[in-house]
Amino acid sequence: MFRSVILAAAGSSRAERLVQSVPLSRSIVSRFVAGTGSDDALRVTRELVADGLAVTLDYLGEDTTTPAGAEAARDEYLRLLDGLAASELTPAAEVSVKLSALGQAFDEKLAEEHARLICAKASEAGTTVTLDMEDHTTTDSTLEMLARLRTDFPTVGVALQSYLRRTEADCRELATPGSRIRLCKGAYAEPESVAYQSRLDVDKSYVRCMNILMAGDGYPMIASHDPRIVTIAEDRSKWFDRGVDEFEFQMLYGVRPEEQLRLAREGYTVRVYVPYGTQWYGYLMRRLAERPANVAFFARALRSRS
Ligand SMILES: Cc1cc2nc3c(=O)[nH]c(=O)nc-3n(C[C@H](O)[C@H](O)[C@H](O)COP(=O)(O)OP(=O)(O)OC[C@H]3O[C@@H](n4cnc5c(N)ncnc54)[C@H](O)[C@@H]3O)c2cc1C
Repeated sequence: MFRSVILAAAGSSRAERLVQSVPLSRSIVSRFVAGTGSDDALRVTRELVADGLAVTLDYLGEDTTTPAGAEAARDEYLRLLDGLAASELTPAAEVSVKLSALGQAFDEKLAEEHARLICAKASEAGTTVTLDMEDHTTTDSTLEMLARLRTDFPTVGVALQSYLRRTEADCRELATPGSRIRLCKGAYAEPESVAYQSRLDVDKSYVRCMNILMAGDGYPMIASHDPRIVTIAEDRSKWFDRGVDEFEFQMLYGVRPEEQLRLAREGYTVRVYVPYGTQWYGYLMRRLAERPANVAFFARALRSRS
């Protein structure tokens, strides 16, 4: 109930105007977002890499509705990749891309052309791209685009969401040599017809999907802050005889930073998902929906400003 109310607000432009009109403390947004520009993204990446962490950078913005908006998102990624290469932050840092930011909703062909240019630039910069997964109406289109992109750029990765009933089958299909799959629980409000609704069912599905990926031939990327999932992943990696360089953990910037460092000290690759840009609203609301404690933190900060 709580989660669906917050996720409904995430999609409401009225709620967005309201939240953005409040003089938000910089510390609220900056806890989860690196900053507004690529300089901030590069600075945070440098700090994380110096701490022994890997990074994936997300230029915030989704559901682009105009060709000009899609082009602007593409150009920002191209500039960012130039910046990463010039700062010698590749291959430790890669980029995460939402196809909806590149125009997927109104012109799939255009989104694919933009994604292809970003993949080419990433490859030139010595790194790669992971496609974020958005709501279930985009899953087929995203996986079809992934398959076409992989013919030229085999290291392109994709996120799969364990809350979707279809994901076990997708994991089976995609657990092929070299295939980089980010397994997450899923962050959107989805109907029962396509998605498990209870936390328990989503978690059980996560473990089934993880087993398929760990047993398969691809490169699993375990994206979760859940201590039980992390422990099970460590266990399964031993069970399936995967070395520390044959899978990785991923967590969001600002979430369980101590655990990120602990895992890195244990020798695991830990990749931090670092968002930046001015369009932080949808991203921040999804983080609030995941954890009531974040809402309390947010409310306290708002009160302390008023
Ligand atoms: C790297 C990365 C990439 C992602 N990419 C996508 C994507 O492409 N598409 C998509 O739909 N979703 C994506 N997500 C979001 C994901 O789907 C989940 O919504 C999000 O990660 C919350 O699920 P969880 O597994 O972390 O644990 P939850 O089920 O939210 O929480 C389980 C437990 O984890 C611990 N925990 C969780 N959050 C915190 C916190 N803030 N502080 C301390 N402990 C905490 C608590 O013990 C909690 O009980 C991504 C997540 C990550 C980490």
